[in-house]
Order: sequence, then C-alpha cells, then structure tokens
Amino acid sequence: MSAQTGLTPLLGVRDLRKTYATRGGLLGRRTGEVRAIDGISFEVMPREILGLVGESGSGKSTTGRVVLRLEEPTSGAVSFDGNVITGLPQLEMKRYRREMQVVFQDPYAALNPRMTVGAFVAEPLIVHGLAPNRSEREEKVAALFKQVGLDPRFMARYPHEFSGGQRQRVNIARAIAMRPRLIVADEPITALDVSIQAQIVNLFQDLQQELGMAYLFIAHDLSMVRYLCHRVAVMLRGRIVEIAPTEAIFTDARHAYTRSLLSAIPVPKPAIERLRRPIAFDYETEKPSPEATLQEVSPGHFVLT
Ligand code: ADP
Ligand code: MG
Repeated sequence: MSAQTGLTPLLGVRDLRKTYATRGGLLGRRTGEVRAIDGISFEVMPREILGLVGESGSGKSTTGRVVLRLEEPTSGAVSFDGNVITGLPQLEMKRYRREMQVVFQDPYAALNPRMTVGAFVAEPLIVHGLAPNRSEREEKVAALFKQVGLDPRFMARYPHEFSGGQRQRVNIARAIAMRPRLIVADEPITALDVSIQAQIVNLFQDLQQELGMAYLFIAHDLSMVRYLCHRVAVMLRGRIVEIAPTEAIFTDARHAYTRSLLSAIPVPKPAIERLRRPIAFDYETEKPSPEATLQEVSPGHFVLT
C-alpha cells in the first residue's frame, strides 16, 4: 500500500538493483561491474503519469525493461496491482503482459518492415485471442487507427511509407490495443522532429484521459515532462535523488542534481534566456553517500540525503 494514499499502487518497485558485468581487453574478460540501477523504490498509482528523468546512462531504460520483465533484476521486486511479478513463470506472467505495454524511442526499429502497419497493430489482438475473425479484427484496428489520429485507410501500408510521427502513432495504437493499465514509454518523442514532439505528447495525454492508463514516462525533455507528468522522479547513476509532484520539482527542487538539470532547460523568451546560467553538477564532490535515503521534505516530496 502507498504510504501517502492508502491505495494499492498499480506499479510498485522495491529496492531494485540491476548490475551488468563490464568486459574489456582483447578476450572480453570481466573487468568489473556497472550498477545500472542501484536500489530504487517508487510507485505509480492507477491513472498516474510518473516522469522518469536523468542524464543518459542514469539507468532509466534499464528500469523500464526490468519493470516490464524484459530483463530480470539482480535483486529487488516489482509488483503490479499488489502482486509481485518478479520471478513469475512465463505462463502466469501472460495476464500481466497484457496489462503492461511499451512504446520505445525509435519508432521505426520497433516496427516490422515486412508487415503492414494494420497487421502489426492487430498482432497482439490475435495472440491474446481478442479478435477471432477477420472483420472484427479490421474493425478494431480501424478504431485504434482513428484513436491515434491515423487514417484507417493506411492500414494496408508498410512502415517505410510513414513519417516518424506517424510511425510512433502506429506503435501507440499497438500498445493501447490490449487496453493496458500501464504503458512504459521510453523517450517516445526523442527521435522525432521537434515540430512533431508536442503532437505526440498531446496524443499521450488525450489517450490517458480517455482510457485511464498510467504511464511510466521516461524522458529527456523536461519542458514536456512538466506539461504531461503528475509526478517526476530524478535519476542519477542508478539512484533516485528526488521524487515529487511535478510542480514541486520545477519550483522547489532540493537536490543539487535536479537544480542542475533544470538550469539546462532553454527558456523560450530571449530576454530571460540571455540571463539563464546553467548550474554545474560535479558528481565526484556532490555524489550522494551510499547510506543516503529518501527523506520527505514536504508532503510527497522526497530527497536523497
Ligand atoms: P539511460 O536509459 O538512463 O540512458 P540505461 O538504463 O540505458 O540508461 O543504462 C544505465 C547503465 O547501464 C549505463 O552505464 C549503461 O552503459 C549500462 N547498461 C545498460 N544496458 C546494459 C547491458 N545490456 N550490458 C551492459 N551494460 C548496460
Ligand atoms: Mg535510455
């Protein structure tokens, strides 16, 4: 149960760790290890959008993959709807797989170039036996296309015929086909033209309101995070250094690393942008101690100290 609300979180992450062996030299011998995730805990409530931010290499994608059980953690547990899913056998995992879907960064890599986009969106419906006959399936896929802002006549086309934004819409259509309760979106707009990014963020927001899903929204662009997310968790080298309601992160950041990240956001007003001074963060002198724990500094606002 969540300490804040007394409700059961949709997603619960407890003391999660994931360590990779690093290899080097001609023979690829094990030279050490990298702690991609170093003991993180957080929750996502039903219908909540939690943003996960941090510089490249901080462990965001690994967190997403372990949550989805595309990878096993080194230790710790993930629960869905109050049930621990880490270590569940594949067969028992199947019903949770339906409820958790993913949207990746590169919309083209996620698609199958030899499959029409309609067939790609229909595939999970077939796998889970949700569209027994062809006409029903086509109807469902057409409705999904409309829902993500694509013309259903595009169903018979192939991925190369689409723009980046349209391809990401196809991926989103497939993700929502199963009516999941959680979507892990791993930098879903980073690879898109800047002019398209806001449209896709708006689509995520509209779909969340229509369908009531929760998102773990991994992102780079903090201005989009501010617009979309209810809460934000900030990761630094495998640890969460701050987690708080979005407005508290943006107006009352407490951790030096969060402040540094925020200071790097360009301001669209030239007069203000000219005055912006990025705050440097020196990991070696400012890194959190291994014993640091998340402390609540105001309701729902936690800082690693
Ligand atoms: P982010 O998504 O925040 O950029 P990642 O989760 O991709 O970060 O990576 C976190 C750390 O784990 C990085 O140091 C990365 O090099 C390392 N890492 C990620 N995946 C693997 C892997 N499969 N094998 C070895 N190291 C990995
Ligand atoms: Mg990543």
